[in-house]
Amino acid sequence: MLIKDTAICLRTTDYSETSQIVTLFTRTTGKISAIAKGAKRPKSAFDGPIEILSFGQIVFSDTGGDKLATLTEFQQKSLFTCTTNNLFALNCSLFAAELLNSLTHDYDPHPELFDSFLRFLQHTNEMRDAKYEQRELLSLLILFQLTLLREIGLMPVLNACVNCRTSHQPPVTGDKIYFSSSANGLVCGDCEASFPDRIGLSKNAIDCFTNTRLIAQAQDGTLKEIEKALIHHFTEILHKPPKMAKHILKS
Ligand SMILES: [Zn+2]
Repeated sequence: MLIKDTAICLRTTDYSETSQIVTLFTRTTGKISAIAKGAKRPKSAFDGPIEILSFGQIVFSDTGGDKLATLTEFQQKSLFTCTTNNLFALNCSLFAAELLNSLTHDYDPHPELFDSFLRFLQHTNEMRDAKYEQRELLSLLILFQLTLLREIGLMPVLNACVNCRTSHQPPVTGDKIYFSSSANGLVCGDCEASFPDRIGLSKNAIDCFTNTRLIAQAQDGTLKEIEKALIHHFTEILHKPPKMAKHILKS
């Protein structure tokens, strides 16, 4: 059965001299793996080799999920090119694609997550020229990561202590609040000792976690602190550090 969908390419692997295996995140089917036969031939049905982060309408033959699908059409538009001036914008996009690929299941559709990922890529792409701001890119990445966690049902509890349910709104001065990946949320000063993996967070970072609208305006240092906690969380969920993580916090 031939299926039409809209897709963003998350990963490509060479399969033979002329063919590729691609992982596509589609809007209505979810993530699929497909073989793109002849993709690397000069006159392929896909306008050349399929590139990571390309986007467009696809047609594929569905095999019910137990075998590779076959991609028959992909009118790909590159959302990002490797010639971009802004390496950090590209790294943020590749990191988001890696997380999406690692944390979603095949044939499990998430249309809202698809739309959010597409908007994220379009926004980061707009910032690829010299005048970009690293702070803005990091805030977009954090917001996308929170959307991803919410969509896959792993959103941490951020409005109260996940252990005793004490609210930290408004935060009590001097009371340190922690993030614990194993608890999947914030833990208060009374409970922190039970969670050895906890990370202490500043008041600004806690405020951003409890009110995500503050993230867009947050200071660079606060965003780095939040991103560090999220990378720690993704590392725990995936049982290994995401490959692209080291490119995000190095500066
Ligand atoms: Zn508590």
